[in-house]
Amino acid sequence: MANFARQILVLDSHYQPARILSLQAGFVLTYSGRATSLVDSPHTIRSVTSTWTIPWIIRLHNSPPKRARDRDGLRFSRQNVYLRDGHTCAYCGNKFGLSHLTLDHLVPIALGGKTNWNNIVTACKNCNSRKGSKTIEELGVRLSRVPQRPQYGPAVLFALRYNLHRGKIPTPWLSFLDPRSLARAKELKLSERTVAKW
Ligand SMILES: [Zn+2]
Repeated sequence: MANFARQILVLDSHYQPARILSLQAGFVLTYSGRATSLVDSPHTIRSVTSTWTIPWIIRLHNSPPKRARDRDGLRFSRQNVYLRDGHTCAYCGNKFGLSHLTLDHLVPIALGGKTNWNNIVTACKNCNSRKGSKTIEELGVRLSRVPQRPQYGPAVLFALRYNLHRGKIPTPWLSFLDPRSLARAKELKLSERTVAKW
């Protein structure tokens, strides 16, 4: 089980969860003046002459420029497609680590396929190279699910990204995490286990 007690919740300048970092990384962001501590942790760092409190929740002063997001703040990105698909290959139905995954266009770009939620699926490297530039009809593959834009927002993706359902979340963090999004992420993770094939 992940131990979030020794990690820092980083909020963007709009108070939205952005990252989870190690205590050390959060400490550096705060003491270098790039973030403000909103809630301090019970942990401290001591030198011979001083003691510093380590923050638990920090807010960045300048959030990185937002890349293209849709009306609900959802960003189409490699990481988010992998999260939507539960890191599971659309063709063989197996789960893989990041280094074995790729994105695949169902309708190849050469045939006018777009790079969007409806035409991109997670594929393992083997399946992707076997598929090449063929369409799924040519391959005779039938997908068990039609890819689409996730029916949930960035808060659920954040929970999925950090596997928040598997860790003990420090109580002060809960003020900044939407409970419905945490519950939805947990449901999605549980259904990944029961659906053998994507
Ligand atoms: Zn595969």
